[in-house]
Amino acid sequence: MAEQVIEGGAANAWQEAVIDKLPLAEALTGVEREVMAYDVVIVGGGPAGLSAAIRLKQRAEKHGKEITVAVLEKSAELGGHILSGAVIDPKALNELFPDWKERGAPLETPVTKDRFVVLGPVGKVSLPMFALPPMMHNHGCYIASLGNVARWLGEQAEALGVEVYPGMAASHVVWDETPESGGGRVKGVVAGVFGIDRDGKPTGDFQPGIELHGKYVFIAEGVRGSLAKTIMARHNLCEDAQPQKYGIGLKELWQVPADRHQPGLAQHTTGWPLDEFTGGGSFIYHFGDRYVAIGYVVHLNYKNPFLSPFDEFQRFKHHPAISEHLEGGTRISYGARAITEGGFQSVPKLSFPGGVLIGCSAGFVNVPRIKGSHNAMKTGMLAADAAFDAVMAGRSGDQLVEYQTAYEKSWVYKELRGVRNAKPLLSKFGTTLGGALGLFDMWFGTLFGGFSLFGTMKHGKTDAASTETADKHKPIAYPKPDGKLSFDKLSSVFVSNTNHAEEQPGHLKLLDPSIPILVNLPKYGEPARLYCPANVYEVLYDESGANPRFQINAQNCVHCKTCDIKDPSQNIVWTTPEGGGGPNYPNM
Ligand SMILES: Cc1cc2nc3c(=O)[nH]c(=O)nc-3n(C[C@H](O)[C@H](O)[C@H](O)COP(=O)(O)OP(=O)(O)OC[C@H]3O[C@@H](n4cnc5c(N)ncnc54)[C@H](O)[C@@H]3O)c2cc1C
Ligand code: SF4
Repeated sequence: MAEQVIEGGAANAWQEAVIDKLPLAEALTGVEREVMAYDVVIVGGGPAGLSAAIRLKQRAEKHGKEITVAVLEKSAELGGHILSGAVIDPKALNELFPDWKERGAPLETPVTKDRFVVLGPVGKVSLPMFALPPMMHNHGCYIASLGNVARWLGEQAEALGVEVYPGMAASHVVWDETPESGGGRVKGVVAGVFGIDRDGKPTGDFQPGIELHGKYVFIAEGVRGSLAKTIMARHNLCEDAQPQKYGIGLKELWQVPADRHQPGLAQHTTGWPLDEFTGGGSFIYHFGDRYVAIGYVVHLNYKNPFLSPFDEFQRFKHHPAISEHLEGGTRISYGARAITEGGFQSVPKLSFPGGVLIGCSAGFVNVPRIKGSHNAMKTGMLAADAAFDAVMAGRSGDQLVEYQTAYEKSWVYKELRGVRNAKPLLSKFGTTLGGALGLFDMWFGTLFGGFSLFGTMKHGKTDAASTETADKHKPIAYPKPDGKLSFDKLSSVFVSNTNHAEEQPGHLKLLDPSIPILVNLPKYGEPARLYCPANVYEVLYDESGANPRFQINAQNCVHCKTCDIKDPSQNIVWTTPEGGGGPNYPNM
């Protein structure tokens, strides 16, 4: 059984590793639920979901109409699960609230200095900014905490009458299976299930959750959403797209001495410590009250199963060109989150019966710019316009094809199209040649209306399928953390404020529990031990060093979704824990 899964696994298991394939907890079999009905139900209180909610209400106010909108957010408070850079392009925000400055949006630090650096093991070379195409420049953008932007957007949404429910994880899709719906219409979602014990039985605090029904359901879960994945599989939304690609982004927030702080500096690096064919790079943003946001993204198509993105990040901070930003400072927070990298050619079909995918649930990140929040907001707004018109026309539960058309005419589409070959060129030719060709291609596209000599390149394999077997690689000896600049995983998870109610069932499900030890360990050295940035997965042995067993410390999970993406057997399914569980990021 295990061997069969692995052989077919990574390439095509996308259709299988979804929540609808998992057995339902005993406590939930046959439960009756209260139903709450809305015009639009939005899953996810990030930039995409909240911008959509705001736009729906703005349109209603403008036209003197009523529209009911609910936003569900799994974090205990808005922004608590959001982790981003972030240098924010205010393009979409300017459209949503032209007066955002007067309204006090937390974008207080404009970018004043842009740097792009290639690191070697000890030295560095700074690229002149004029070598980079104009859209790679950050002037006109703002350094901020995207979590705080979401908190502020939430306040604006509530002031307009949006019902925002933090602490409510949408755990399942409510499907309308009637023949008149065509089968598989998304009628709503189940949220607010609490009080199930480890064995799936109800505890004294059991709540079966409620069904929130919407004329339209917007999926705004961000990268690798669990409902998005299920809906994509059911409706074959990725059929005509290239496989989605991802990176894992690790980030720390530091507060540094005033004489080290350079407010407005946005620095990006490529090169060391990653090798030529392992993609990734760093960001360092100085902003606010002596804050430095420092982060590292490793592309998840890396081949070496012994690579640990967390440890690459920790050793990177010891480079003299990096440590000078942090010395004498204090680390305030840590976290990790996957980022979509497939771009233009990986965008799935955006509408399905009863709803749409918006923001990073569909994957609108511009990879060379490492920016997706403006596109998330804009696609939320485009979907809102389509849904508002449809609801006002008396429509319900059909496909909002107008949103797809609006996306294809939008500046988001144009922007993503212009950089469509940057990621495939890196994957194919490595950091130096691929990076140079990518720059050439982006310049060419800028000068010749988006035309590329490479056409539209393919991504090829999924990130899971890119992992090579352990016998082709050597283990990597990472330096020990010094506790000043570099840290271990457990003390890092501590500063992410991660917490999950103890007795709940583990939210990290294995389709086949035997695979980690029978397949992943001998073939790949069980890479979950290394790619997980929160020490969730361990392989433990008995006293004689024999009898390995796979342990899942689900309480440490920071909801980055990397295991769901990178497991070479595609055997791990990330599901929502009880609402409110997970990290609680302050200013990330
Ligand atoms: C390391 C890193 C650096 C980045 N840097 C930048 C940058 O500098 N500039 C920039 O513009 N972009 C950057 N991005 C990308 C940017 O963060 C995303 O494009 C943006 O957050 C997408 O917004 P979203 O609303 O689609 O998703 P998210 O911001 O991820 O929000 C989704 C929300 O939905 C909630 N949710 C998910 N599933 C459920 C569920 N089932 N039920 C209830 N709630 C749910 C989540 O908790 C979350 O709050 C970066 C990303 C990373 C990882
Ligand atoms: S368990 Fe998975 S989602 Fe959770 S932190 Fe580890 S890799 Fe990320």
